[in-house]
Amino acid sequence: MGGIVPKLAHHAHMRNLPSVVQEAIQSAGLGEHGILAVDIIAVTRGPGLAHSLGVGLNAAKTLAAALNKPLIGVHHMEAHALTARLTTRDPDYQPVDQDVSASESNVPIGSDPYPSFPFLTLLVSGGHTLLLVAHSVNRYTTLATTVDDSIGEAFDKTARELDIPWLPGRAGGPGASLEQFAKSSSNPGRYQDRLPIPLSLRSSKSEMKFSFAGLKSAVTRIVNQEKAASPTGEMDESKRQDLAAGFQHCAVTHLCQKVEQALVDCHEQGLDISSLVISGGVGRNATLRSRMDEVCGRFEYGGAIALDKMSSKEKKRLKRALLTAAAPKESGKAVRSVRVICPPPKLCTDNAVMIAWTGLERYQQGLVDPYDIDIVPKWPLDMLGTGVVPE
Ligand code: ATP
Ligand code: FE
Repeated sequence: MGGIVPKLAHHAHMRNLPSVVQEAIQSAGLGEHGILAVDIIAVTRGPGLAHSLGVGLNAAKTLAAALNKPLIGVHHMEAHALTARLTTRDPDYQPVDQDVSASESNVPIGSDPYPSFPFLTLLVSGGHTLLLVAHSVNRYTTLATTVDDSIGEAFDKTARELDIPWLPGRAGGPGASLEQFAKSSSNPGRYQDRLPIPLSLRSSKSEMKFSFAGLKSAVTRIVNQEKAASPTGEMDESKRQDLAAGFQHCAVTHLCQKVEQALVDCHEQGLDISSLVISGGVGRNATLRSRMDEVCGRFEYGGAIALDKMSSKEKKRLKRALLTAAAPKESGKAVRSVRVICPPPKLCTDNAVMIAWTGLERYQQGLVDPYDIDIVPKWPLDMLGTGVVPE
């Protein structure tokens, strides 16, 4: 149940791509010149399923060569990371997803929210749980990744475990249904003592990683215990709602703790982090967004603090202050705070806009690819910009 069958995905790509391209060109308002009005062709090169990537890349290479246009091969996760630079750039930008309320869309339009480099980015999706520093287009450092399931998988598996109804094809998938279901919880702390916050013991650099398998197993254990104790053999709805809320709380707290640690570490290294960009399907989650707002809101400090000129005692104090509450503010200097920036929910999940935008960002840096590039199914984001592409 769930997941993608590679062979079916490959066939669906082959069958549908021509009509999708045709429809996109027709609806893009390109005027009388149609596709000739397009300046560059951007395409996902990896990571992902080899056969599906191949269909897209071949189509794009053929189009680019036939039209004599520049070709840009895009890393899927760089595209997730850079989407927020599109959606916050234009003060007149309107959220694409008209169904989404202004509070859920969380696009701080027109209030200098633009994520300038370097920024921290949390990519939380079906296949990834990544915390990265984005130094520039084409240059990223991974600070933490998952050692087992991705957070999206954890949401999906937990939603299934809890029998949460969802309509296939509905935006957000099982994770969004779990979020909705958890909203009805009347006692979100009911299972607090039996649900672990993963890797929450003393944060240290060696623990800069994510893990969701233990949390997921704890959910399964509780479900089994509740079913065994119930006369009907079923877990009643209100308890399932409480467990969904408890799971979501622990998963989000886990992310928050690592982001907090990363902000402190970056600060110690003198990296002037401007913002935290959250993207990927799980980035649609409103609880995650608001909890991250709280975390980053505490990282408010006066202008440029020269860490290299501080004694180790001062650094310790700063670190403590950043981790607890009121951070020091230097009088007379502009106060900045780390901002949380999320693309509107519709652009958090996979979409072609993010690939086009990343193509443009790369093109502006002169990063054009030759027509003979190949797919890269396994491609750590840190390798971008090294000149090495895995076989
Ligand atoms: P990747 O980008 O790693 O290749 P993907 O593109 O398949 O993975 P996305 O489409 O970005 O993944 O995200 C899908 C995931 O997001 C699913 O696991 C889905 O359940 C989860 N998700 C979507 N909305 C929410 C939400 N509101 N709360 C929690 N999870 C959500
Ligand atoms: Fe994705």
